[in-house]
Amino acid sequence: MSGLYIHVPFCESKCPYCAFASAPKRPGDEEKFLRAIEREISARRAGFDSLEGFETLYVGGGTPSVISVPAWRHVIEIIASSIKLARRAEVTVEANPGSLTDGHLELWRAWRVTRVSVGAQSFDDGELRFLGRVHDSAQAADAIESCLSAGFETSVDLMFGLPGQKLRDWAKTLKRALLPAPGHLSIYQLAIEDGVPFARKNLVLPDGYEQYRYAQWRLARAGYGQYEIASFARVRRESRHNLNYWDDGDYVGIGPSAWSNMDGRRSKNAPLLDVYSDMICSSGSAVVYEERLDPGPAARQAAVLALRTRRGIDWRSFADKHGKVFSDEVKKKLEKFPANLVVTDAKSTALTQAGFRVANKVWEDII
Ligand code: SF4
Repeated sequence: MSGLYIHVPFCESKCPYCAFASAPKRPGDEEKFLRAIEREISARRAGFDSLEGFETLYVGGGTPSVISVPAWRHVIEIIASSIKLARRAEVTVEANPGSLTDGHLELWRAWRVTRVSVGAQSFDDGELRFLGRVHDSAQAADAIESCLSAGFETSVDLMFGLPGQKLRDWAKTLKRALLPAPGHLSIYQLAIEDGVPFARKNLVLPDGYEQYRYAQWRLARAGYGQYEIASFARVRRESRHNLNYWDDGDYVGIGPSAWSNMDGRRSKNAPLLDVYSDMICSSGSAVVYEERLDPGPAARQAAVLALRTRRGIDWRSFADKHGKVFSDEVKKKLEKFPANLVVTDAKSTALTQAGFRVANKVWEDII
């Protein structure tokens, strides 16, 4: 299985905790972006990167709904004319409540979009203001309702672990998110990387353990299975695109800052739109970083990715891909964790729900 990712580098405004490659659009940026991704796609085709048979397409960012509807028509033309998606491909677009319009939904519905992932983050207006989000809770609820009424599989992103956030605040956000019964929820703990505006504020973040544990309990009660450390879905509503990523599958990334992973070679495009565009226009490639991991680190990294998921590591395919030596090495490290954290059957090893809560410790041990 292989997936295609397209990174949209625009947002309405920059959230103070965000380290993703995105910025508000300047005049001319949209055209520059469209020209550059069109060129990158044709350069990759000419360079024999296979752009056929993708089983998933994920348009993320940034905020893809910040692209205007006419520009989105152009994006669709570019994709439709040069990329072959599999017949039943999963096509996901990320959207934010402040910029998603009925026009976007109509266009996506008429094309091949199957899932919309809505960045709601919270249903508490004070928390949304603290996070620097440009939408309020009513807009978040409207956006989710609109996606569901338009017939999309709908995912909702939420954030926990905010300074001062009480368990009851988080419980209210979860309750509100569940009201329209979306098929999928992703929950992320607020983390602050160096260089973002929040990093200068000396914020004290809670460890988030209780909120995470509460979400596991609450979402299970509401009929959502936890199929990955941050992802919960109703039956057959899992994100196939993300599962391919955690399975260490192949994917091609187009656009500024996009990563690709093909046949064990990982590469990253230039993160800034201007640099990306200049590189693409002059040489057809914007790759600024490339690596092929040695067998040991590649095996350990694949193990950590697989352990993010409920299905965990399938030992036969792991040994086929990475060799028995590294398979045995990882297995031995996992054996020392108690059965309430790590569960092993005849074929595989996976983290339990309690194991997900301390996953960082398990990963540290493997790496
Ligand atoms: S909307 Fe998302 S991608 Fe854009 S700045 Fe905020 S967190 Fe980052």
